[in-house]
Amino acid sequence: MPELENDELLRDLNDAQRKAVTYGDGPLLIVAGAGTGKTTTLARRVAWLIRQGADPGRVLLLTFTRRAAVEMLRRADGYLAVAGDSHAAAAVWGGTFHAVAVRLLRRFGSSIGLPSGFTILDRGDSEDLLGVVRADLGLADAKNRFPSKSLCAEIYGRVVNSQKPLDKVLEETFPAQRAHTLDLKALFKGYTARKEAEHLLDYDDLLLFWETLLADSAGEGLRSLFSHVLVDEYQDTNRLQAAILKRLRPDGTGLTVVGDDAQAIYAFRAATVRNILDFPQDYPNSAIIALEDNYRSTQPILTLANAVIAAAVERHEKTLRAVRAGGLPPTLVRCEDEGEQAKQVVSQVVRQHREGVPFRQQAVLFRAAHHSLAVELELNRREIPFVKYGGLKFLETAHVKDLLAFLRFAENPRDSLAADRVLSLLPGVGRKTSQTLVERLRETGFAWQTAWQDYKPGTSAREHWPRLLDLLGEIAGPPDDRIPPAEQVRLARLFYAPLLAGRYDHAAVRMQDLEQIELLAAGYPDRAGFLSDLTLDPPASTRRGPEALDDDDDSLVLSTIHSAKGLEFVAVHVLSAVEGSIPSDFSDGSPEALDEERRLFYVALTRAKDSLFLYHPLRYSLSRPSRGGAYGLAPLTRFLTLDIQRHLRVLSAGAEPSPALTTGDVRRRIGQMWE
Ligand code: ATP
Ligand code: MG
Repeated sequence: MPELENDELLRDLNDAQRKAVTYGDGPLLIVAGAGTGKTTTLARRVAWLIRQGADPGRVLLLTFTRRAAVEMLRRADGYLAVAGDSHAAAAVWGGTFHAVAVRLLRRFGSSIGLPSGFTILDRGDSEDLLGVVRADLGLADAKNRFPSKSLCAEIYGRVVNSQKPLDKVLEETFPAQRAHTLDLKALFKGYTARKEAEHLLDYDDLLLFWETLLADSAGEGLRSLFSHVLVDEYQDTNRLQAAILKRLRPDGTGLTVVGDDAQAIYAFRAATVRNILDFPQDYPNSAIIALEDNYRSTQPILTLANAVIAAAVERHEKTLRAVRAGGLPPTLVRCEDEGEQAKQVVSQVVRQHREGVPFRQQAVLFRAAHHSLAVELELNRREIPFVKYGGLKFLETAHVKDLLAFLRFAENPRDSLAADRVLSLLPGVGRKTSQTLVERLRETGFAWQTAWQDYKPGTSAREHWPRLLDLLGEIAGPPDDRIPPAEQVRLARLFYAPLLAGRYDHAAVRMQDLEQIELLAAGYPDRAGFLSDLTLDPPASTRRGPEALDDDDDSLVLSTIHSAKGLEFVAVHVLSAVEGSIPSDFSDGSPEALDEERRLFYVALTRAKDSLFLYHPLRYSLSRPSRGGAYGLAPLTRFLTLDIQRHLRVLSAGAEPSPALTTGDVRRRIGQMWE
């Protein structure tokens, strides 16, 4: 189609991408390997649809993070500007499934009886509430070995998201907990009742209620809100999300999904690659477009990535080939131990920087957030700025939760966790007192002024109590005379500061976090919107290195592999490519779990454009003896077999060079003995 080749919106695309961008309204699945331009194609399709006359306000773009949606729409706007229509993409509905669910439920939830002032529990809150109900039901007794609150939350989430009955989930995934089936049912029933009574929704509820809303008589109206629905990273969606899409677009008209089964890394949250594999059956008239050329990485990097993923037990044949010419083989850096690894990583980063690669174009990737501690220390020592993504979120820290509890309570006084958190901050107010006060609150229909006016606090809380009531009077006023969210944060912060100093160490640093929250709040006109955005998509970066001020700064990126999904960097450094780290000690060793770890490793490798460094600390404190890490010696990850090591250049940094046999090699050798 020569006229399309000349269209400025499409000119730089390849034929398959162009076909995907301009495909008609039938259901469309774009399935392709890493770096082949899936996200680019999807953003371009948004621009194309708008230019073809689609109303931007009726286009829904679902992504894995808010950041991804913002970036894609910014790009879509850029393409439109080239074509002469600027800023049209701003009206597109973009965001995660959960964030879109909140927007819709606030607007239409009343038709299924949802209270408009509901607040949202993050994962930590859900666990806490499950913990409370577990204790209320007398299940928390150590003797009966009932699962921990976090395991309970995991089981609950799995049931909801996989849409399978509890018995089946226990049988398939948590067989050791089968003896607790009845008690778990009682717990989950209690948890559900508690959320209903307190006007709380957890993450899973957001999806569940969205689906319910679509199934309800209001469903038709809701469906007609959107003419087009586009989904990136479809391989990491769960059954419930697929069900929502099916209800949104029953015959698939206007539906485009994009994904790569080789990069599915969220099975632990009940995501399933079946969604991508079953798409053609779910939407019988769908088209599938494959993209094959990789524009991101050089061939030596892709050769390694291809070899690693080829050994996956279950996979679809897909080989990446590089469009870009040249490139150096990836480097395996052997080091003595983790301390040496940290030094090596930082000197490679600095060397790259000297050769013209900015820090922000380089990433240090790791399996678990705590794996980067030694590198962070070394970066601090050498005064290199960095930002860290993934791991313990800002919002999960105790002092941030404390501060937000004031706002959450003001927003929804039924939220007993928030009430309890606020009350327990006061010195001398223990579990029992707090429970009594929460109980009084319930009895008075959640009018805290009435419930608490007669309370006489003990000596240590005496000075704080009237100030707390004053604060609540200020921030929990009726909606029409409410002060802006940033001012509410400021008042709560002033009240909380002296309490914080008495509770935690590093008070000054923590106070800075709280000021940060005030700044975040400044962007919001209303408290409900501020709280839900913060809960659903909290600022991803936590610790910051020296002098890192904002995202435009040239800071090195430190990230868990999970949080680096979809991103790319000129140079990538993968920490601790050893057994116990990748695959993780926490994976249960089943073939499925190992395949997931392998895909995770593949995701890490395919983030690199030009340079890829893998580090092998020979002594590694995190590997457990039971998994082959005896005497602290860490075998190279099994995903880099001898055969695959051919694609690597080995560099020994002060370490004894020794053949890096992996357990896979040994097994293969033993196997060969019988042939
Ligand atoms: P992932 O699987 O990691 O999410 P992806 O398939 O979404 O990757 P993109 O991130 O869209 O891939 O693209 C990878 C890189 O290739 C980007 O830098 C993008 O700008 C570039 N790219 C994509 N298509 C083309 C093209 N036709 N010409 C030149 N560069 C392209
Ligand atoms: Mg992508």
